[in-house]
Amino acid sequence: MTRVVVIGAGAAGTMAAIFAAGAGAETILLERTNDGGRKILISGGGRCNILPARLDESRFVTDSSANTLRKIVRGWPLAEQVAFFERDVGIALVEEPESVKFFPASHKARDVRDGLLALARTRGVAIRMDMLVTDVAPSGTGWAVSCSGAPAIEADAVIIACGGLSVPMTGSEGAGLRIAEKLGHTIHATYPALTPIIAQPAPFANLSGVSLPVTLTATARGRSAAATGGFLFTHVGYSGPAVLDVSHVLVRSRAEHDDPLARLTVRWTAHGDAEWTERLRPHGARTAIGALRAEMPDRLAAALLLTANVAADRVLSELQRDERLRLVEVLVRGALPWTSDEGYRKAEVTGGGVSLAEIDPRTMESRRCAGLYLCGEVLDAFGPIGGYNFLWAWATGRAAGLGAARAA
Ligand SMILES: Cc1cc2nc3c(=O)[nH]c(=O)nc-3n(C[C@H](O)[C@H](O)[C@H](O)COP(=O)(O)OP(=O)(O)OC[C@H]3O[C@@H](n4cnc5c(N)ncnc54)[C@H](O)[C@@H]3O)c2cc1C
Repeated sequence: MTRVVVIGAGAAGTMAAIFAAGAGAETILLERTNDGGRKILISGGGRCNILPARLDESRFVTDSSANTLRKIVRGWPLAEQVAFFERDVGIALVEEPESVKFFPASHKARDVRDGLLALARTRGVAIRMDMLVTDVAPSGTGWAVSCSGAPAIEADAVIIACGGLSVPMTGSEGAGLRIAEKLGHTIHATYPALTPIIAQPAPFANLSGVSLPVTLTATARGRSAAATGGFLFTHVGYSGPAVLDVSHVLVRSRAEHDDPLARLTVRWTAHGDAEWTERLRPHGARTAIGALRAEMPDRLAAALLLTANVAADRVLSELQRDERLRLVEVLVRGALPWTSDEGYRKAEVTGGGVSLAEIDPRTMESRRCAGLYLCGEVLDAFGPIGGYNFLWAWATGRAAGLGAARAA
């Protein structure tokens, strides 16, 4: 019987092990923590946004070929993933229509983590916790997997599913990237993605806790991203799905020492220039603050009038043309000052990683090392908030598990 060793019992690795064992391989799943799947446990605020309810492939980010990425994502269509969780793992999913996301019906991330590990056990996977893998090296016709404080394990095929660098306390701190690089793979520069943004001194610190839906645009030299969704003022800057979704452009601009740094602008409401110009026309005794308050939280309305240098109690009929223009600019293309980001400590994923050019998109086998497979966050791809990153982990994990079991 062929032996497949999977390194990392996170989202991608557990899925890989389930499919490798299901395809008939003797499968060993090695995990450095004592329980595995810690990112699943903290995902979606403890509810686990397991998948998107609709998929827009163009929203994935990679420095590798977008075409290769699409092939990988299409390898396990969304509807089949949903069916797998409901039928094989036994977890009913519910769609949250306003966010277009799937969650387990129990709204408990633990059910997802435990359900996957239980299915792996049912399919015969030998799960070994507290096993820190230190190296992977060719051995005979296969591989030797070295572990701290335990004898090396021989394998016909190895699957690297160690995650990236984000939230290291969950167990992923770059081991997979180091091993892949040592074995000759190209690693695209890594960076924290889906991370909150810092503005120090915080120009809007007094708005901390205020949240609303906005449209954000981040623009740097040769790169840009836009997102519509939740925005939250924090005591040190900005967070919320829209902020996380564009954060990689800011993070990379800083890492690459852009001068000037990437520009972050915000449209505070759904209204554009024409709608706001209309709303700021004279209207009885209505004041500037009255017009803004009708569309957004009071405290934000006051702050934006201050930014535009327009007196809050100004009656609309007395508003000067240049005041109206300034206010519309702030409301529709307001500049959001920023200085840095929360980094890997809070990043939901790692951008960059092992080049997709060196992976067979059908099997996830390395084109550099026969019998070596890679899946999940260690690869050069991530998606926006909304279940995209688990979709990537599930799709690449399944392909790697099937590929490793069949090839070996
Ligand atoms: C706070 C937070 C919330 C998130 N919420 C969502 C969400 O709701 N929806 C979504 O789609 N995505 C979400 N994500 C992203 C998602 O969790 C990741 O994309 C996904 O977990 C990546 O899966 P992975 O298996 O590649 O890596 P990981 O889940 O990080 O798993 C890697 C595993 O490998 C183990 N490991 C590492 N090195 C070694 C070693 N040397 N030896 C043995 N084991 C090792 C680690 O301990 C870990 O268990 C969230 C992330 C964070 C941080």
